[in-house]
Amino acid sequence: MPPPSSAASRDEPVIRDRGDACPGALRLHAADDGHLARIRIPGGLLTADAAGVLADAADRLGDGHLDLTSRGNAQLRGLGAGCGGELAALLGATALLPAAAATHERVRNIVASPLSGLDRQGRTDVTPWVGALDRLLCASPAAAALSGRFLFALDDGRGDVTSLAPDVSVHALPTGTAVLWTHDDTDAVTVAHQDAPRAALTAAEYFLDLVREAGTKAWRVSELPAECRLESAELINRLRAHGISAERADGFARRTAPGPGPGVVAGPDADRVALSVLAPLGRLTTGQWRLLADVAAAAAGTLRLTPWRGIVVPGVDAATAPDALARLAGAGLVTAPGGPWENVTACTGRPGCAKALADVRADARAVVARAGAAGGALPVHWSGCERRCGHPRAAAWVDLVAGPRGYGLALAGGDHGDGRAVRDGVPGTATELAAALAAVQQTQQQTATDVVKR
Ligand code: SF4
Repeated sequence: MPPPSSAASRDEPVIRDRGDACPGALRLHAADDGHLARIRIPGGLLTADAAGVLADAADRLGDGHLDLTSRGNAQLRGLGAGCGGELAALLGATALLPAAAATHERVRNIVASPLSGLDRQGRTDVTPWVGALDRLLCASPAAAALSGRFLFALDDGRGDVTSLAPDVSVHALPTGTAVLWTHDDTDAVTVAHQDAPRAALTAAEYFLDLVREAGTKAWRVSELPAECRLESAELINRLRAHGISAERADGFARRTAPGPGPGVVAGPDADRVALSVLAPLGRLTTGQWRLLADVAAAAAGTLRLTPWRGIVVPGVDAATAPDALARLAGAGLVTAPGGPWENVTACTGRPGCAKALADVRADARAVVARAGAAGGALPVHWSGCERRCGHPRAAAWVDLVAGPRGYGLALAGGDHGDGRAVRDGVPGTATELAAALAAVQQTQQQTATDVVKR
C-alpha cells in the first residue's frame, strides 16, 4: 500500500516565483462552479446591515450561500463572470470595501479573538486594535505589496488566534503591554497596548523590506530564506525609529486556547450575553445568514465571524437568548457543544474546485448523518486533493484526502507532523468511511491511553 503523501509537505519551505493569486472582493477567481469572491472582514467584525448586504449579493449574484473561511472572512460562490462591477457597487455602499480597495482590499487579513470583551477570559478588548490596524494598513502604500495570504493576529491574551500560525502575532499581556512576534514567539518584543497596531504594521513593513532585499517573492514570513529572518533586535530599532517604545520580551510564555464553542457566552454584564454558533462545514444559506443578522440587529447590531467557521452575536438580551438560540438551532446552525459538526471541516472539493477528486462535503455530510463524528475526539479534515486547503491548526487531527483510488487516512499535526499514514484506498461510501474513521480514532485514543499509563 503506497502511503499517502506527507501531510507536512505543505509546511516545508516554499520558493515563490510569482505574486499570489488569492481572490478578493474585486479580483474574482474563476472556479468550476462559477466565479468566487472573498470579502475580507478584518477581525471578523461585521454590522448587521453589512451582513444584510452580503446576503443580498449572494442571492442576486451568487448561489444563495455564504462560506466562512479559516481566517474569518466571507466568500460568495457561483457568481457570474460579468458581475464584478455590480458586486463592487453593492459592497462599496458599506464599510465592506475600504476607500483604498483598489490597492489594499486583499491585504486586510486580520484575525482577532472573537470573544474579546465579551467574556472574562481576555486581558484586554482588542476590537479597537482591529479598526486601528485596518486603517493603518490601508494608509500604508508599502502594505499594498503584502500577499493576500499574509495574516495578522490580534489576541486578547487567551491564545486563540495566535494559534493559527499568523505572520504577525500580537498577544495582550495584563500589564498594559503586548508581546509581538513574527515567526517565533521566543524572539518577541514588548510594546504598550496603545502602540500594538502601529507595531504590527511596522513588523509587516520590515517583512516587505526583507522580501525585497532577498530578491524573493515570499508571500508569508515562513517563506523567507533562513538567512533573511526577521530579528527582534532590528524590529526594536525600527519600532523605536517610529517613536514606539519596545523591549525584548524575555521569558514570555504564550497561552493557547481553542476557538469559541457553540452556546451562550456570559460576560461581565448579567443582562447581556453573546450567542456563539457554528455553521456546518462553514457554509450558510442566505436564510440562515439573515436570521443571524436579524438576531444581531435586535441586540448590539454587530456580528463576529470566527476563523473556526462560527459566528458570535454580542449584546443579546439574556432573557431572550434561549429563544434566539432555539431559532438558530431550528435553522440548522450548531448551537450547543458536543455535536458531531464541532470537529469536522472540509475544503471546497467537487464541484467547486477543479483539482478535487471527490465531493468531500457531500461525503462528510453522509458520514456525519450515519455515524456522527465517527466516534473520536480528534478533529477530522476532509480534502479533495493533496493540497489540504483549510486544514485545522490543531495539535493533531485525522486527515482524510481523496485520491484516485479512494480516500487516504492519516494522522497529522503535532507529533504526527509528517503525516502518519493509516489507511489508503478507502471507498467513498458512508459505511466504509465511517468504519475507517472510527478505527483511526480508536487507535489514537488507545495510543493516548497507553502513553498516559507508561
Ligand atoms: S484541497 Fe484541493 S480539492 Fe480542496 S479546495 Fe484545495 S485545491 Fe481544491
